[in-house]
Amino acid sequence: MPEPSSLEHLSGQCRLDVFKRGRDRYEKTSYPSRTGIYHEIISKRAVLHFNLNGEIIRLAGRGKDWPHPQEWLKRTIGNDWIYYSTGGYTGVFETTGEYYLPNLPYPTNNHMGGRPFETTAVKTLIRSWFEDARAALADVDDGPSQISSVARRILASSPEALAAKSGLLRRITGGPVSVLPPDTRHVDYQVIPLNISRGCLYKCGFCRVKNSSRFTPLNRDTIEANIGRLADFFGDDLTNFNAAFLGDHDALNCEPDLILEAIQLACAGLRLDSSSIRGGNVFMFGSVSSLMKHKQVFFDALGRLPISVYINIGLESAHQNTLDLLEKPLSAHEVAAAFERMQQINQACPNVEMTANFVTGQELPDGHYEALLSLVRNSLNSAKSKGCIYLSPLQFDSPSRARLFDFYRLKRLSRLPLFMYTIQRL
Ligand code: SF4
Repeated sequence: MPEPSSLEHLSGQCRLDVFKRGRDRYEKTSYPSRTGIYHEIISKRAVLHFNLNGEIIRLAGRGKDWPHPQEWLKRTIGNDWIYYSTGGYTGVFETTGEYYLPNLPYPTNNHMGGRPFETTAVKTLIRSWFEDARAALADVDDGPSQISSVARRILASSPEALAAKSGLLRRITGGPVSVLPPDTRHVDYQVIPLNISRGCLYKCGFCRVKNSSRFTPLNRDTIEANIGRLADFFGDDLTNFNAAFLGDHDALNCEPDLILEAIQLACAGLRLDSSSIRGGNVFMFGSVSSLMKHKQVFFDALGRLPISVYINIGLESAHQNTLDLLEKPLSAHEVAAAFERMQQINQACPNVEMTANFVTGQELPDGHYEALLSLVRNSLNSAKSKGCIYLSPLQFDSPSRARLFDFYRLKRLSRLPLFMYTIQRL
């Protein structure tokens, strides 16, 4: 990797720093901290960060009209802008497990947050950041060659080029990635989406993120070919990714050998365990059926991999009437048995974390919350630090602090870490 260098006093009194080194591991901090290697332009009105392909990844306004000096915009590889806010520092960490609240520009099950995308400063910067980059880099051809080569890549990555590139990602993944596992918060949702299957088993009535595919595993050759396409897609910036999301909605339902082989292929082809960010990770979703069909020997094998594995299971409810209301074709007994199995795996496999989702909503019967507490409190004899429980609001796009009342009560009583889950896409 080239050494960091900088060029000051570009046209318009700007500064360009290339190959800046951020942290080499993800850490949860209550102030803005950057991870990985990136390029930075500081213009009069904004700080612009670019990845190693020269593509914009972060923006923060410098003017008085910017909502907060410690807040910023992040562009995802799916080409969405996400606004990271402090949420006024009140309860964000307790609620989400993170210090910053991602405000999303599309309807989702969010439960907090304001309306940063309606502020003029945010709208203007999203619309016109490329003009700042163009103005700053107008004379860079005269500069040292490493810097001028970075500048050329930045100028080639216009908003139109970035939109087209996100279309290419959707072609590789076979469609939009409609939801990421909540555990991907540990890597700031920076995951390479590698599908090893399509569809899910249950097609629950309440679910807003499912697709129409029946569950279908992909074959090894397709997975290997997609790893190659993804490595090309991420290009020089591959080194800034230490995590893959094995999609899509129930990768755990694939055969054990396919899952293990896909992870090994991803580690090698996407260099998950040798990126510039330490500690490789794999995330996936599973279901009650897929969890229960695997033997312990499979989870032991996952635990021996040189990376951390997070598996998120959609349990939704341990209350039969609620499961019926959700049109989830499971019995409360099956959900309770799956929960117990998850606790066994969490205890036996240090590198594997099983986490679970449950729904929340004022319209749900009281029995739902009683059944939830019987699992996350009564069935455990001590508090655990592993095996997060995520609560997912049933209502989309109606943030309400009042809704958090139930959450805080459950969090206080739970013997497992308990957070709210905001559905994020790629
Ligand atoms: S909740 Fe999971 S299993 Fe049910 S329809 Fe949605 S993706 Fe499929």
